[in-house]
Amino acid sequence: MDILGIKIDNTDMEKALEKACDALSDRASFRYIFTPNAEICMAAIKDNSLMEVLNSSFMNIPDGDGVVLASKILKTPLKEKVPGCVFVQNLLGMGKSFSVYLLGASHDSVSTAAKKIQSLYPHITVAGYHDGFFNVDQEKEIIDNINTEKPDLIIVGLGAPKQEFFIYKHRHNIHSGLAIGAGGTIDIISGFSKRAPEFFCKHKLEWFYRLLKQPARFKRMLNIPLFLIKCRQHARKAFKKKNRRT
Ligand code: UDP
Repeated sequence: MDILGIKIDNTDMEKALEKACDALSDRASFRYIFTPNAEICMAAIKDNSLMEVLNSSFMNIPDGDGVVLASKILKTPLKEKVPGCVFVQNLLGMGKSFSVYLLGASHDSVSTAAKKIQSLYPHITVAGYHDGFFNVDQEKEIIDNINTEKPDLIIVGLGAPKQEFFIYKHRHNIHSGLAIGAGGTIDIISGFSKRAPEFFCKHKLEWFYRLLKQPARFKRMLNIPLFLIKCRQHARKAFKKKNRRT
């Protein structure tokens, strides 16, 4: 499905997990999954190179309520929201044996997440980890380290759009089956940050909880209503065009 030029998979949690598992099993080539929310979608509308990066993925799962709402405004409703952090934890918890490399978050957070994964999911091997605060000169060393370990899965939590650009830049050099651009998932696994409580998720107010916890995100989060306004304008234009024709 296309949402203002951004390819989003009309999937649900079960189907998305199945597709990720298939990619982990065949390891035919390096593939990557992104987890766009309304903020990233708006950023992609403003930046063609980000749009190109997002549209090059193996799968884009609809991470937030904003994307699902946008699909409804455009009269092409997505099945459901598939939150990236839940998707990654479900993938780890499926009982399938594979190795994982964690890239992102602070050193304390990523090392704690590695230990947690090892104890919570004994069938998973943590092949290695690296924090997400490195400069361009260190990238080669990180990619070399990943390629030595050859993990089946790489969880890349560098925040958006840094993680998307990082994966895209190195897509031809990474020896792994699958990478997921997973935002703050490493912090959630480590316990360094918490997902919004059930009340906020149920009432589609995850964005509000985020704003309460990280008021500095305010400017960035203005992209959410801007994105929805763009979708509304697009839907109106399409409606008018259709009426003119009939
Ligand atoms: N982060 C990182 N390197 C950076 C900037 C951020 O590893 O240069 C990490 C940060 O520590 C956090 C995650 O990226 O763990 C961003 O989480 P957030 O929930 O803000 O993700 P976003 O919504 O930006 O995708």
